[in-house]
Amino acid sequence: MTVYNFSAGPAVLPAPVLLKAQSELLDYENSGQSVLEMSHRSPIFESIREAAEQSLRRLMSIPDSYSVLFLQGGATLQFAMLPQNLATKTGRIDFIDTGGWSTKAMADAKRYATVNVLASSADHGYRFIPEGPFTSTADYLHITWNNTLEGTTYQTPPHVDVPLVADVSSSILSEPLPIESFDVLYAGAQKNLGVAGLTVVIVKNELLDRVPDTIGAYLRYDIHAKQRSLYNTPPTFSLYMTKLVLDWIEETGLEAIAARNVSQAHMLYEAIDQSDLFHNHVAVKDRSRMNIPFSTGSESEDAAFLNFAARHDLINLAGHRSIGGMRASLYNAMPTEGVTALLHIMHRFEQGER
Ligand code: PLP
Repeated sequence: MTVYNFSAGPAVLPAPVLLKAQSELLDYENSGQSVLEMSHRSPIFESIREAAEQSLRRLMSIPDSYSVLFLQGGATLQFAMLPQNLATKTGRIDFIDTGGWSTKAMADAKRYATVNVLASSADHGYRFIPEGPFTSTADYLHITWNNTLEGTTYQTPPHVDVPLVADVSSSILSEPLPIESFDVLYAGAQKNLGVAGLTVVIVKNELLDRVPDTIGAYLRYDIHAKQRSLYNTPPTFSLYMTKLVLDWIEETGLEAIAARNVSQAHMLYEAIDQSDLFHNHVAVKDRSRMNIPFSTGSESEDAAFLNFAARHDLINLAGHRSIGGMRASLYNAMPTEGVTALLHIMHRFEQGER
């Protein structure tokens, strides 16, 4: 039985990654130990951490002028760490508000800094990404690159004269990004990068001078950078899983993965747009390739569709509880067969099958 899992996160992993982890679980490379049992300071674990960092640097073309940090606490902890580390000059942060995750990031930032909303699409149901030009004199501008709940995405980074910080939790490594347009990128690993427990923060080294010594040690980017993410025990197994996912992306090729993501998203949007039953309300130019919300417009019909889909092994298609309807998350590990199966089921449902 093949089950296709459309979960927004934690999300489906590439099958070769799971098989590799399974084969190495009890004995990693004839070391007689599981990765679960290794000291984070042992040379063998250090080689895993280093390989993950180098692979991420290659895949994202990250220059030496940026540090790569492997942390815990999810993207959510970054909502609080970012202002404490970086809003230390003017004490002001600009935000572009594009949905639920921007709102959460702002709510935490307000505890540490003055938050200013440069632009927002809230009054329009977050159906689009506000367009610039923007000017900012704040300590940084924060954006949410791919809006997991609303199904929107930036196509290009906004240009501003202050550091640009982007939450890329739901789109990292689904497409190439112009790394030098950003000063900080951060993502929880559990969608495109691996499993829950690991958070990746990519930060320009020159920003590390801003970090105050008045915040707790674990909260300080400069300490993690200096200690190569080994200040304390990192989430060792999650880091190992990310290394396996990065290996898989390198073997498959980021360009090939990005092209497949574009084509799979196109297949689904086309089906929705041609359907008389299903709708997606996002402005076409800002449509996400990772998270695709759709609805029949009727709560009971949406529930019937979700039930019908689950009975045909298409799972985790419910929209976020704040939005309702359906949402298909098409992260890197979703095979084209999964999208084809979804289109087939949508068609049968529209023909009246229940
Ligand atoms: N930001 C975005 C864009 C997300 O999609 C999510 C989770 O879905 C988060 C932040 C929160 O991430 P975490 O659960 O890792 O704290």
